[in-house]
Amino acid sequence: MLQPVGVGHKSLADYTHLVGGGLVDEIRRLAEPLQGLKVLHLSATAFGGGVSEILYTLIPLMRDVGIEVEWDVVIGREEFFNATKLMHNALQGNPLDLSPSEWKVYEDYNEMNAREMSSGWDVAICHDPQPALMRSHVADKARSWVWRCHIDLSQPHPPTIDRLVPVLREYDATLFHLQQYVPAAFDGVPNVNICPPAIDPLSPKNMALSPEDAAFVVDQFGIDVDRPLMCQVSRFDPWKDPIGVIDAYRKVTEDMPEVQLALVGSMATDDPEGWEFFNSTVEHAQGDPDIHILNNMNNVGAIEVNAFQSQADVLVQKSTREGFGLTVSEALWKARPFIGGDVGGIPLQVQDGETGFLVSSPEQCAERSLEILREPGLGKFLGRRGKEHVRRNFLTPRLLRDWLRIFTDLS
Ligand code: UDP
Repeated sequence: MLQPVGVGHKSLADYTHLVGGGLVDEIRRLAEPLQGLKVLHLSATAFGGGVSEILYTLIPLMRDVGIEVEWDVVIGREEFFNATKLMHNALQGNPLDLSPSEWKVYEDYNEMNAREMSSGWDVAICHDPQPALMRSHVADKARSWVWRCHIDLSQPHPPTIDRLVPVLREYDATLFHLQQYVPAAFDGVPNVNICPPAIDPLSPKNMALSPEDAAFVVDQFGIDVDRPLMCQVSRFDPWKDPIGVIDAYRKVTEDMPEVQLALVGSMATDDPEGWEFFNSTVEHAQGDPDIHILNNMNNVGAIEVNAFQSQADVLVQKSTREGFGLTVSEALWKARPFIGGDVGGIPLQVQDGETGFLVSSPEQCAERSLEILREPGLGKFLGRRGKEHVRRNFLTPRLLRDWLRIFTDLS
Protein backbone atom coordinates (compact mmCIF):
# COMPACT_ATOMS: atom_id res chain seq x y z
CA MET A 1 0.00 0.00 0.00
CA LEU A 2 1.12 3.55 -0.70
CA GLN A 3 1.46 5.50 2.53
CA PRO A 4 -0.93 8.45 2.90
CA VAL A 5 0.63 11.44 4.64
CA GLY A 6 -1.35 13.56 7.08
CA VAL A 7 -0.78 17.30 6.94
CA GLY A 8 -2.07 20.01 9.25
CA HIS A 9 -4.47 22.84 8.55
CA LYS A 10 -3.43 26.23 7.17
CA SER A 11 -5.39 29.24 6.07
CA LEU A 12 -4.44 31.45 3.12
CA ALA A 13 -5.93 34.48 4.86
CA ASP A 14 -3.15 34.30 7.45
CA TYR A 15 -0.60 35.10 4.74
CA THR A 16 -2.24 38.29 3.46
CA HIS A 17 -0.17 40.65 5.58
CA LEU A 18 3.03 39.02 4.30
CA VAL A 19 2.35 38.72 0.57
CA GLY A 20 -0.30 41.39 0.01
CA GLY A 21 -3.99 41.29 -0.80
CA GLY A 22 -3.44 41.37 -4.58
CA LEU A 23 -1.86 37.92 -4.68
CA VAL A 24 -4.42 36.46 -2.28
CA ASP A 25 -7.28 37.80 -4.44
CA GLU A 26 -5.68 36.39 -7.57
CA ILE A 27 -5.42 32.96 -5.88
CA ARG A 28 -9.08 33.03 -4.90
CA ARG A 29 -10.11 33.99 -8.44
CA LEU A 30 -8.06 31.16 -9.93
CA ALA A 31 -9.40 28.65 -7.38
CA GLU A 32 -13.06 29.48 -8.05
CA PRO A 33 -13.56 27.23 -11.11
CA LEU A 34 -11.30 24.52 -9.65
CA GLN A 35 -13.42 23.70 -6.59
CA GLY A 36 -13.40 19.99 -5.78
CA LEU A 37 -10.58 19.17 -8.22
CA LYS A 38 -9.05 15.86 -7.09
CA VAL A 39 -5.27 16.08 -6.93
CA LEU A 40 -2.79 13.42 -5.79
CA HIS A 41 0.85 14.13 -4.93
CA LEU A 42 3.27 11.18 -5.15
CA SER A 43 6.72 11.44 -3.59
CA ALA A 44 9.46 9.24 -2.17
CA THR A 45 9.51 10.45 1.41
CA ALA A 46 7.52 12.46 3.91
CA PHE A 47 10.57 13.36 5.92
CA GLY A 48 13.79 15.23 5.21
CA GLY A 49 14.71 17.31 2.20
CA GLY A 50 12.95 19.97 0.22
CA VAL A 51 10.07 18.04 -1.36
CA SER A 52 8.40 17.12 1.90
CA GLU A 53 9.11 20.57 3.28
CA ILE A 54 7.16 22.12 0.39
CA LEU A 55 4.26 19.67 0.46
CA TYR A 56 3.56 20.10 4.17
CA THR A 57 2.66 23.73 3.41
CA LEU A 58 1.41 23.62 -0.15
CA ILE A 59 -1.15 20.85 0.43
CA PRO A 60 -2.97 22.51 3.36
CA LEU A 61 -3.14 25.76 1.37
CA MET A 62 -4.45 23.94 -1.72
CA ARG A 63 -7.14 22.41 0.50
CA ASP A 64 -7.93 25.78 2.04
CA VAL A 65 -8.82 27.18 -1.39
CA GLY A 66 -11.09 24.24 -2.26
CA ILE A 67 -8.90 21.64 -4.01
CA GLU A 68 -9.26 18.03 -2.78
CA VAL A 69 -5.65 17.02 -2.28
CA GLU A 70 -4.02 13.83 -1.01
CA TRP A 71 -0.34 12.95 -0.66
CA ASP A 72 0.96 9.40 -0.91
CA VAL A 73 4.51 8.24 -0.33
CA VAL A 74 5.64 5.38 -2.56
CA ILE A 75 6.74 2.13 -1.03
CA GLY A 76 10.29 0.95 -1.48
CA ARG A 77 12.88 -1.14 0.29
CA GLU A 78 16.55 -0.23 0.61
CA GLU A 79 17.33 -1.64 -2.85
CA PHE A 80 14.88 0.84 -4.40
CA PHE A 81 16.29 3.85 -2.56
CA ASN A 82 19.84 2.77 -3.37
CA ALA A 83 18.90 2.73 -7.04
CA THR A 84 17.05 6.07 -6.90
CA LYS A 85 19.89 7.76 -5.01
CA LEU A 86 22.29 6.63 -7.73
CA MET A 87 19.84 7.99 -10.27
CA HIS A 88 19.56 11.28 -8.38
CA ASN A 89 23.35 11.62 -8.40
CA ALA A 90 23.62 10.70 -12.09
CA LEU A 91 20.92 13.22 -13.01
CA GLN A 92 22.86 15.91 -11.13
CA GLY A 93 25.99 15.03 -13.13
CA ASN A 94 27.75 12.09 -11.46
CA PRO A 95 29.02 9.98 -14.38
CA LEU A 96 27.68 6.67 -13.08
CA ASP A 97 24.50 5.17 -14.50
CA LEU A 98 22.42 2.49 -12.80
CA SER A 99 23.38 -1.09 -13.63
CA PRO A 100 20.80 -3.17 -15.56
CA SER A 101 19.73 -4.85 -12.31
CA GLU A 102 19.35 -1.45 -10.58
CA TRP A 103 17.22 -0.18 -13.46
CA LYS A 104 15.10 -3.31 -13.05
CA VAL A 105 14.66 -2.67 -9.33
CA TYR A 106 13.58 0.90 -10.13
CA GLU A 107 11.11 -0.27 -12.78
CA ASP A 108 9.68 -3.08 -10.66
CA TYR A 109 8.96 -0.83 -7.67
CA ASN A 110 7.32 1.72 -9.94
CA GLU A 111 5.10 -0.97 -11.41
CA MET A 112 4.18 -2.25 -7.95
CA ASN A 113 3.39 1.25 -6.68
CA ALA A 114 1.37 1.97 -9.81
CA ARG A 115 -0.79 -1.10 -9.14
CA GLU A 116 -1.40 0.07 -5.58
CA MET A 117 -2.34 3.62 -6.58
CA SER A 118 -6.00 4.54 -6.22
CA SER A 119 -7.88 5.88 -9.25
CA GLY A 120 -10.28 8.66 -10.14
CA TRP A 121 -7.83 11.58 -9.86
CA ASP A 122 -8.10 14.71 -11.94
CA VAL A 123 -4.38 15.37 -11.57
CA ALA A 124 -1.55 13.13 -10.34
CA ILE A 125 1.71 14.91 -9.58
CA CYS A 126 4.91 12.84 -9.45
CA HIS A 127 7.73 14.55 -7.58
CA ASP A 128 11.24 13.82 -8.79
CA PRO A 129 12.36 10.64 -10.57
CA GLN A 130 11.47 8.09 -7.89
CA PRO A 131 7.78 7.64 -8.90
CA ALA A 132 8.21 8.88 -12.48
CA LEU A 133 7.50 5.54 -14.19
CA MET A 134 4.17 4.97 -12.45
CA ARG A 135 2.31 6.92 -15.11
CA SER A 136 3.31 4.56 -17.91
CA HIS A 137 1.64 1.65 -16.10
CA VAL A 138 -1.61 3.26 -15.02
CA ALA A 139 -2.11 6.41 -17.08
CA ASP A 140 -5.89 6.02 -16.79
CA LYS A 141 -5.89 6.38 -13.00
CA ALA A 142 -5.63 10.17 -13.42
CA ARG A 143 -7.00 12.47 -16.10
CA SER A 144 -3.74 14.46 -16.22
CA TRP A 145 -0.22 13.67 -15.06
CA VAL A 146 2.37 16.25 -14.02
CA TRP A 147 6.06 15.63 -13.37
CA ARG A 148 7.61 18.05 -10.90
CA CYS A 149 11.42 18.11 -11.00
CA HIS A 150 13.18 19.36 -7.85
CA ILE A 151 16.76 18.63 -8.85
CA ASP A 152 19.53 20.31 -10.79
CA LEU A 153 19.24 18.78 -14.27
CA SER A 154 21.65 21.17 -15.95
CA GLN A 155 24.37 18.57 -16.64
CA PRO A 156 22.81 15.13 -16.33
CA HIS A 157 24.76 11.97 -17.08
CA PRO A 158 23.53 11.24 -20.65
CA PRO A 159 22.70 7.49 -20.37
CA THR A 160 20.54 8.12 -17.30
CA ILE A 161 18.56 11.10 -18.59
CA ASP A 162 18.21 9.52 -22.04
CA ARG A 163 16.45 6.56 -20.53
CA LEU A 164 14.02 8.74 -18.58
CA VAL A 165 13.21 11.37 -21.19
CA PRO A 166 10.81 9.27 -23.31
CA VAL A 167 8.77 8.59 -20.17
CA LEU A 168 8.83 12.21 -19.02
CA ARG A 169 7.79 13.52 -22.45
CA GLU A 170 4.50 11.67 -22.07
CA TYR A 171 3.42 13.80 -19.10
CA ASP A 172 0.68 16.37 -19.68
CA ALA A 173 2.79 19.01 -17.94
CA THR A 174 6.25 19.28 -16.41
CA LEU A 175 7.71 21.78 -13.96
CA PHE A 176 11.32 22.78 -13.49
CA HIS A 177 12.86 25.35 -11.17
CA LEU A 178 14.96 26.93 -13.91
CA GLN A 179 14.98 27.02 -17.71
CA GLN A 180 18.46 25.47 -17.77
CA TYR A 181 17.11 22.31 -16.11
CA VAL A 182 14.79 21.48 -19.01
CA PRO A 183 16.45 18.55 -20.83
CA ALA A 184 17.59 19.33 -24.38
CA ALA A 185 15.51 16.39 -25.62
CA PHE A 186 12.37 18.21 -24.41
CA ASP A 187 12.42 20.34 -27.55
CA GLY A 188 8.87 20.66 -28.80
CA VAL A 189 7.28 19.19 -25.67
CA PRO A 190 4.23 21.30 -24.72
CA ASN A 191 3.36 22.57 -21.26
CA VAL A 192 6.86 22.85 -19.80
CA ASN A 193 6.66 25.24 -16.85
CA ILE A 194 9.41 27.13 -15.07
CA CYS A 195 8.43 27.53 -11.48
CA PRO A 196 10.76 27.76 -8.48
CA PRO A 197 9.57 26.46 -5.11
CA ALA A 198 8.92 28.52 -2.01
CA ILE A 199 9.08 28.52 1.78
CA ASP A 200 6.35 28.90 4.36
CA PRO A 201 6.94 32.09 6.36
CA LEU A 202 4.51 30.94 9.06
CA SER A 203 5.89 27.45 9.69
CA PRO A 204 7.78 26.82 12.94
CA LYS A 205 10.96 26.77 10.83
CA ASN A 206 10.45 30.26 9.47
CA MET A 207 8.24 32.14 11.88
CA ALA A 208 9.72 35.09 13.71
CA LEU A 209 11.87 34.06 16.67
CA SER A 210 13.25 36.67 19.04
CA PRO A 211 17.06 36.91 19.27
CA GLU A 212 16.77 35.86 22.94
CA ASP A 213 14.77 32.73 22.09
CA ALA A 214 17.15 31.82 19.26
CA ALA A 215 20.16 32.21 21.56
CA PHE A 216 18.42 30.20 24.28
CA VAL A 217 17.84 27.25 21.91
CA VAL A 218 21.28 27.35 20.29
CA ASP A 219 23.00 27.57 23.67
CA GLN A 220 21.51 24.18 24.56
CA PHE A 221 23.57 22.58 21.80
CA GLY A 222 26.83 23.74 23.33
CA ILE A 223 27.29 26.84 21.14
CA ASP A 224 28.82 29.83 22.91
CA VAL A 225 26.29 32.50 21.98
CA ASP A 226 28.74 35.28 22.82
CA ARG A 227 31.11 34.18 20.07
CA PRO A 228 30.55 34.40 16.29
CA LEU A 229 28.85 31.47 14.59
CA MET A 230 28.97 30.21 11.01
CA CYS A 231 26.28 27.72 10.11
CA GLN A 232 25.12 25.50 7.25
CA VAL A 233 21.79 23.67 7.42
CA SER A 234 21.53 20.80 4.94
CA ARG A 235 21.40 17.06 4.45
CA PHE A 236 24.75 15.27 4.69
CA ASP A 237 25.28 14.94 0.97
CA PRO A 238 28.50 15.49 -1.03
CA TRP A 239 26.72 18.04 -3.31
CA LYS A 240 26.03 20.21 -0.25
CA ASP A 241 29.80 20.30 0.40
CA PRO A 242 29.95 20.35 4.22
CA ILE A 243 33.61 19.37 3.83
CA GLY A 244 34.21 22.60 1.90
CA VAL A 245 32.40 24.50 4.65
CA ILE A 246 34.77 23.04 7.24
CA ASP A 247 37.72 24.08 5.06
CA ALA A 248 36.31 27.62 4.78
CA TYR A 249 35.75 27.76 8.55
CA ARG A 250 39.36 26.66 9.16
CA LYS A 251 40.62 29.52 6.99
CA VAL A 252 38.38 31.95 8.86
CA THR A 253 39.73 30.81 12.22
CA GLU A 254 43.30 31.56 11.09
CA ASP A 255 42.26 35.25 11.35
CA MET A 256 39.44 34.97 13.86
CA PRO A 257 40.06 31.99 16.16
CA GLU A 258 36.92 32.73 18.19
CA VAL A 259 34.58 31.71 15.35
CA GLN A 260 32.51 28.52 15.72
CA LEU A 261 30.84 26.36 13.08
CA ALA A 262 27.54 24.45 13.21
CA LEU A 263 26.65 21.91 10.54
CA VAL A 264 23.01 21.03 11.00
CA GLY A 265 21.75 18.22 8.83
CA SER A 266 18.76 15.93 8.90
CA MET A 267 18.91 12.38 7.60
CA ALA A 268 16.25 11.74 4.96
CA THR A 269 14.64 8.30 4.93
CA ASP A 270 15.23 7.96 1.17
CA ASP A 271 18.95 8.74 1.44
CA PRO A 272 21.02 5.64 2.21
CA GLU A 273 24.31 7.49 1.60
CA GLY A 274 23.53 9.99 4.34
CA TRP A 275 25.10 8.17 7.28
CA GLU A 276 28.27 7.26 5.44
CA PHE A 277 28.82 10.85 4.41
CA PHE A 278 27.87 12.09 7.87
CA ASN A 279 30.71 9.96 9.25
CA SER A 280 33.22 11.33 6.71
CA THR A 281 32.17 14.85 7.69
CA VAL A 282 32.73 14.09 11.37
CA GLU A 283 36.13 12.66 10.50
CA HIS A 284 37.04 15.80 8.53
CA ALA A 285 36.26 17.93 11.61
CA GLN A 286 39.08 16.09 13.44
CA GLY A 287 37.52 16.52 16.85
CA ASP A 288 37.59 20.35 16.76
CA PRO A 289 35.37 21.26 19.75
CA ASP A 290 34.21 24.42 17.95
CA ILE A 291 32.73 22.42 15.07
CA HIS A 292 29.25 21.27 16.07
CA ILE A 293 27.84 18.57 13.79
CA LEU A 294 24.20 17.92 14.56
CA ASN A 295 21.39 15.93 13.00
CA ASN A 296 17.80 15.05 13.74
CA MET A 297 19.02 12.26 16.03
CA ASN A 298 20.20 15.11 18.28
CA ASN A 299 16.61 16.33 18.39
CA VAL A 300 17.17 19.09 15.86
CA GLY A 301 13.72 19.82 14.53
CA ALA A 302 12.13 22.79 12.80
CA ILE A 303 12.39 25.19 15.74
CA GLU A 304 16.03 24.33 16.26
CA VAL A 305 16.79 24.92 12.57
CA ASN A 306 14.99 28.26 12.88
CA ALA A 307 17.07 29.11 15.96
CA PHE A 308 20.37 28.27 14.26
CA GLN A 309 19.40 30.26 11.16
CA SER A 310 18.28 33.22 13.29
CA GLN A 311 21.35 33.15 15.50
CA ALA A 312 24.20 32.59 13.03
CA ASP A 313 26.42 35.53 12.09
CA VAL A 314 27.08 33.97 8.69
CA LEU A 315 24.77 31.43 7.06
CA VAL A 316 26.31 29.28 4.36
CA GLN A 317 24.98 26.96 1.65
CA LYS A 318 28.16 26.05 -0.14
CA SER A 319 26.59 23.54 -2.52
CA THR A 320 28.32 22.42 -5.69
CA ARG A 321 24.94 21.37 -7.19
CA GLU A 322 21.62 22.65 -5.92
CA GLY A 323 18.20 22.21 -7.52
CA PHE A 324 16.87 25.26 -5.69
CA GLY A 325 18.02 25.23 -2.08
CA LEU A 326 15.11 26.02 0.24
CA THR A 327 17.68 26.62 2.95
CA VAL A 328 18.77 29.70 1.01
CA SER A 329 15.36 31.37 1.15
CA GLU A 330 14.97 30.20 4.75
CA ALA A 331 18.23 31.93 5.64
CA LEU A 332 17.41 35.12 3.75
CA TRP A 333 13.94 35.22 5.31
CA LYS A 334 15.65 35.54 8.70
CA ALA A 335 17.48 38.59 7.33
CA ARG A 336 20.83 37.01 8.10
CA PRO A 337 23.99 37.53 6.01
CA PHE A 338 24.22 34.67 3.58
CA ILE A 339 26.94 33.06 1.43
CA GLY A 340 25.99 30.48 -1.19
CA GLY A 341 27.64 28.39 -3.87
CA ASP A 342 27.26 29.96 -7.30
CA VAL A 343 25.31 27.00 -8.69
CA GLY A 344 21.82 25.84 -9.64
CA GLY A 345 18.97 27.65 -7.94
CA ILE A 346 21.14 29.65 -5.54
CA PRO A 347 21.83 32.64 -7.85
CA LEU A 348 18.08 32.96 -8.38
CA GLN A 349 17.79 33.75 -4.69
CA VAL A 350 21.08 35.53 -4.10
CA GLN A 351 22.18 38.51 -6.12
CA ASP A 352 25.89 38.71 -5.45
CA GLY A 353 26.69 41.70 -3.24
CA GLU A 354 23.00 42.70 -3.04
CA THR A 355 21.13 40.03 -1.10
CA GLY A 356 24.16 37.93 -0.09
CA PHE A 357 27.38 36.64 -1.63
CA LEU A 358 28.02 33.93 -4.22
CA VAL A 359 31.23 31.90 -4.02
CA SER A 360 32.91 29.07 -5.92
CA SER A 361 35.56 27.81 -3.50
CA PRO A 362 36.24 27.38 0.23
CA GLU A 363 38.78 30.22 -0.05
CA GLN A 364 36.19 32.66 -1.44
CA CYS A 365 33.73 31.49 1.18
CA ALA A 366 36.27 32.22 3.91
CA GLU A 367 37.05 35.69 2.51
CA ARG A 368 33.39 36.67 2.33
CA SER A 369 32.76 35.28 5.82
CA LEU A 370 35.57 37.40 7.22
CA GLU A 371 34.19 40.50 5.45
CA ILE A 372 30.79 39.94 7.04
CA LEU A 373 32.18 39.10 10.47
CA ARG A 374 34.38 42.20 10.51
CA GLU A 375 31.67 44.56 9.31
CA PRO A 376 28.30 43.86 10.92
CA GLY A 377 26.69 46.75 9.02
CA LEU A 378 27.35 44.94 5.74
CA GLY A 379 25.60 41.82 7.01
CA LYS A 380 22.56 43.83 8.09
CA PHE A 381 22.35 45.53 4.69
CA LEU A 382 22.53 42.22 2.80
CA GLY A 383 20.12 40.53 5.20
CA ARG A 384 17.41 43.18 4.89
CA ARG A 385 17.49 43.13 1.09
CA GLY A 386 17.58 39.33 1.05
CA LYS A 387 14.41 39.17 3.10
CA GLU A 388 12.55 41.51 0.73
CA HIS A 389 13.65 39.45 -2.27
CA VAL A 390 12.21 36.32 -0.64
CA ARG A 391 9.01 38.13 0.33
CA ARG A 392 8.41 39.10 -3.28
CA ASN A 393 9.39 35.83 -4.93
CA PHE A 394 9.72 32.77 -2.74
CA LEU A 395 6.82 32.49 -0.29
CA THR A 396 4.29 29.65 -0.64
CA PRO A 397 1.28 31.72 -1.80
CA ARG A 398 3.17 32.55 -5.01
CA LEU A 399 3.82 28.83 -5.56
CA LEU A 400 0.16 28.06 -4.88
CA ARG A 401 -0.82 30.65 -7.51
CA ASP A 402 1.53 29.01 -10.05
CA TRP A 403 0.02 25.57 -9.37
CA LEU A 404 -3.52 26.89 -9.77
CA ARG A 405 -2.55 28.32 -13.16
CA ILE A 406 -1.21 24.91 -14.18
CA PHE A 407 -4.41 23.17 -13.01
CA THR A 408 -6.40 25.72 -14.99
CA ASP A 409 -4.38 24.95 -18.13
CA LEU A 410 -4.89 21.23 -17.63
CA SER A 411 -8.63 21.47 -17.20
N1 UDP B 1 16.40 20.61 6.87
C1 UDP B 1 15.94 20.40 8.16
N2 UDP B 1 16.82 19.93 9.08
C2 UDP B 1 18.09 19.71 8.81
C3 UDP B 1 18.55 19.92 7.49
C4 UDP B 1 17.67 20.37 6.53
O1 UDP B 1 14.80 20.62 8.47
O2 UDP B 1 18.81 19.30 9.70
C5 UDP B 1 15.45 21.16 5.88
C6 UDP B 1 15.86 22.53 5.44
O3 UDP B 1 15.53 23.48 6.43
C7 UDP B 1 15.09 22.66 4.15
C8 UDP B 1 15.08 21.24 3.61
O4 UDP B 1 15.38 20.39 4.73
O5 UDP B 1 13.77 23.07 4.40
C9 UDP B 1 16.13 21.04 2.54
O6 UDP B 1 15.70 21.55 1.34
P1 UDP B 1 16.71 22.05 0.23
O7 UDP B 1 15.91 22.47 -0.94
O8 UDP B 1 17.62 23.07 0.82
O9 UDP B 1 17.62 20.79 -0.12
P2 UDP B 1 17.31 19.26 -0.48
O10 UDP B 1 17.54 18.52 0.81
O11 UDP B 1 15.91 19.15 -0.99
O12 UDP B 1 18.35 18.90 -1.50
